Amino acid sequence: MMEGSLTLDKMLERAEKLFPIKQIVSRTSSGITRYGYKEMGERTRRISSVLKNLGVKKGDKIGTLAWNDHRHLEAYFGIPSMGAVLHTINIRLSPQHIAYIINHAEDKVLLIDSDFLPLVEAIKDEIPSVQSFILLTDDEELPDSKLEPLYSYERLLDQGDPTFEYTEDIDENDPAGMCYTSATTGLPKGVVYSHRGITLHSMAISLADAAAISESDVCMPVVPMFHANAWGMPFASTWLGSTQVLPGPKFTPALLAELIDQENVTITAGVPTIWLGLLKELETGEKEYDMSSLRAVLCGGSAAPLGMIRKFETKYNIPFIHAYGMTETTPLVTLSRLKSYQDDLAEDDKLAIRSKQGYVVPGLETKVVNDTGEVEWNGEDMGELLVRGPWIADSYYNDERTKDAFQDGWLKTGDIVTIDSEGVIKIADRTKDLVKSGGEWISTIDLENVLMAHDAVFEAAVVGVPHPEWQERPVAAVVLHPNTTATKQELFDYLKPQFAKWWLPDDIIFMEEIPKTSVGKFMKAKLREQLHDQLEV
Ligand code: ADP
Repeated sequence: MMEGSLTLDKMLERAEKLFPIKQIVSRTSSGITRYGYKEMGERTRRISSVLKNLGVKKGDKIGTLAWNDHRHLEAYFGIPSMGAVLHTINIRLSPQHIAYIINHAEDKVLLIDSDFLPLVEAIKDEIPSVQSFILLTDDEELPDSKLEPLYSYERLLDQGDPTFEYTEDIDENDPAGMCYTSATTGLPKGVVYSHRGITLHSMAISLADAAAISESDVCMPVVPMFHANAWGMPFASTWLGSTQVLPGPKFTPALLAELIDQENVTITAGVPTIWLGLLKELETGEKEYDMSSLRAVLCGGSAAPLGMIRKFETKYNIPFIHAYGMTETTPLVTLSRLKSYQDDLAEDDKLAIRSKQGYVVPGLETKVVNDTGEVEWNGEDMGELLVRGPWIADSYYNDERTKDAFQDGWLKTGDIVTIDSEGVIKIADRTKDLVKSGGEWISTIDLENVLMAHDAVFEAAVVGVPHPEWQERPVAAVVLHPNTTATKQELFDYLKPQFAKWWLPDDIIFMEEIPKTSVGKFMKAKLREQLHDQLEV
């Protein structure tokens, strides 16, 4: 066989040649921009040529602090295609962590949405590696700024070369991108993605048995482009020539519903809290939306509550695909689909299977291990999930602290799971979130899932709190839907028939809001602290 090079410039070239008129719809603070892949390609080549003129060389890291919009998409291809490394920065991290990762990656240039200018100005003295700042804005005039030199992206593009050729000798194993985990504890850890890894991941996510992304799709990644490459959706959809809808800054559930309706979005992706918000909008919002174009909502990042999936599917006819992955895994690892011979199962049984995290996609290998070796495929024994394959990180970037996360060629995910006789994985918890009660483990995700299926419950998060006798006991924090009521006793009575007695939470605390991480997951460490104060344990 010939050796083809699996590099991102080839993806871009395919889109430019085959799908010049297919559209990218991008929402920014100044409105909606629409253009085809031909124009996207020209602008991408312009930015590459400009970066080259600014002195960017192969292997240099270029940071982005940006929303999901067309300029960020241009950076997605313009930076790796010239041999540099796209470093997407999580704009919701603390300024200290942002400064840390810019320094750790040694970013040479930063592309900054004007919303984040004050943030970067505040840390400018702490990031000496950065030689140029580029402002992502439609404004004609650059604002007064402490950043030096500061360029306007659009003015630089005017000087760029739309026919710039990607002649840099790039090996498919060269780095194309990097992303730091959002660090709920400790310092962020860097993951480097290769051209090959991203390309193979794009194929995997597009398979019919995965998210089945195709040219005919209208793809809207709601998951931020700084969170594991928006789960690879912008890469796959560009390669395949799908229409893309990029929802931009500070969107609301109403705005997402409007975009789905008006742009006929067929597939969208995001964490469960986004979809809980959308559900609330559909149920209680003032407007009616047409959601009939949607063929799939890809939901991952944390466990998708079964009750939520059921409501979307039965009440609104919106199909869900539950998927699992990590920043370290590009991110797709497993995805929940029924097997053809399960079609005749009762609807509830099918939903129960589909609300698990699913089985491994082609190209990767998984195994589940505990102290005694690989666990049985019985859906009960818990162990840690290990993963390996061509889009799985084999180390963290320049980080000696983290060697233990990798063992004998496997990535240790830190997720405690069961695996059933069909190979379907169910995440019980992250190691650090699992409640260890009297030597036994309690899955907080299971408890949350059932609580969130209660009609009055909007969100529920369960954490372990220290206990003098049992070491730890679960306590639930619950947010009720507006204008609904439920007492503690009602919720206990509802849980009781569904769990062993010792699994039931010791207390249920009603809250206005559950603290969330920078990517919209329940922030259990913070919740634990809050409950700790409240319970005086
Ligand atoms: P962060 O570490 O900042 O939360 P990641 O997105 O990399 O960012 O987190 C990956 C983790 O998210 C996984 O290890 C797992 O614990 C959790 N996760 C991802 N998808 C799911 C899912 N479908 N169900 C339950 N947990 C999930």
